[in-house]
Amino acid sequence: MRVLTSFNLTELRDIFKELGLEPYRTGQVLDWVYKKFETDFQNMTNLSKTHRSMLSEHFKVHTLELVSKVPAEDSVKYIFRTEDGHLIETVLIFERDHLTLCVSSQVGCAVGCKFCATAKDGLLRNLTTSEIIDQYLLVQKEAPNRIRNVVFMGMGEPLANYEAVRKAVEIMVSSWGIDLSKRRVSISTSGLVAQIRRMAQDPLMKELNLAVSINAPSQALRETLMPISKTNNLEEILQALIEFPYPPDRRIMLEYVLIKDLNDSPKQAQALAKLIAPYRRKFKVNLIPYNPDPSIPFERPSMEGVYAFQEVLRKYNISTFIRLSKGIEVFGACGQLRSKRLELMVK
Ligand code: SAH
Ligand code: SF4
Repeated sequence: MRVLTSFNLTELRDIFKELGLEPYRTGQVLDWVYKKFETDFQNMTNLSKTHRSMLSEHFKVHTLELVSKVPAEDSVKYIFRTEDGHLIETVLIFERDHLTLCVSSQVGCAVGCKFCATAKDGLLRNLTTSEIIDQYLLVQKEAPNRIRNVVFMGMGEPLANYEAVRKAVEIMVSSWGIDLSKRRVSISTSGLVAQIRRMAQDPLMKELNLAVSINAPSQALRETLMPISKTNNLEEILQALIEFPYPPDRRIMLEYVLIKDLNDSPKQAQALAKLIAPYRRKFKVNLIPYNPDPSIPFERPSMEGVYAFQEVLRKYNISTFIRLSKGIEVFGACGQLRSKRLELMVK
């Protein structure tokens, strides 16, 4: 049985053709799935009974199973089980005037950042396109409003799963699919230089919001926090970002997780400011106070420390924002998504 949400419009048209369905049927079915969130072909009433039965025989709409929902004040964490038994999670975040969905792109992550809980599992596997799309569909189906923003900031390194993520993005931003604005889909990466350059050449991917986890003002410190930096060094990352083909009014987001006594001193703020000041119009900085995790010996700095860090960057006229991760109390915040722990929560 095939999963309908693995395919884009062209692929699905071809499959429908093989099944003897007229091309316009593709649009009808996609409309049911992506606009009406229908999962049962038998309810697709503008198709004949024969077509409905045929589609039910060949396709299913979802592959993930919702196993648990953990509500918090400003977010809900959804835990899903994949068909091969992995647990992944997605966080619905209630922003002031809209909903944002934080999706996972892999089970675990191979990048191995020292501060991140997801890294503890290593990479178990990539998610498929339909598993990524399913996170959206299953949450949207019961969300109070339309989800307008999607951020690839859940479990995994999205650019290490480029093909599956790309097709999921295509489904998300196409008018025949979920129909989100390209400017409301964000890819957050630990800074895979070759993949950033690939994204820059890609007509679809270069339109998205790009966020890069910088986390240190120097190559030496970055290497200790993010071992991947040894092969994707800070200078090369910045060069790839400077060359990224955004129009002049668009900025790449640099994410900086502030960890107490590690990368949060005013001196380090100044070093970061000096590093990016020459390109300040290309970047904005998002400071993320560290979300502590029981399995990692790092701490969150005081809010005064966070504001002081921001102040230094602002003195250099660098747009700098503080992001307090939502969902901390349900372990749904950035860097707290961990497959092994999810197992404990659903048992
Ligand atoms: N792999 C991608 C996207 C997922 S991580 C990436 O690294 O960018 C999303 C963000 O959460 C990254 O900016 C990462 O630096 C940050 N993060 C990881 N662990 C964190 C933690 N414990 N507290 C706060 N932010 C964390
Ligand atoms: Fe992977 Fe991102 Fe966590 Fe680093 S911060 S281990 S890249 S999920």
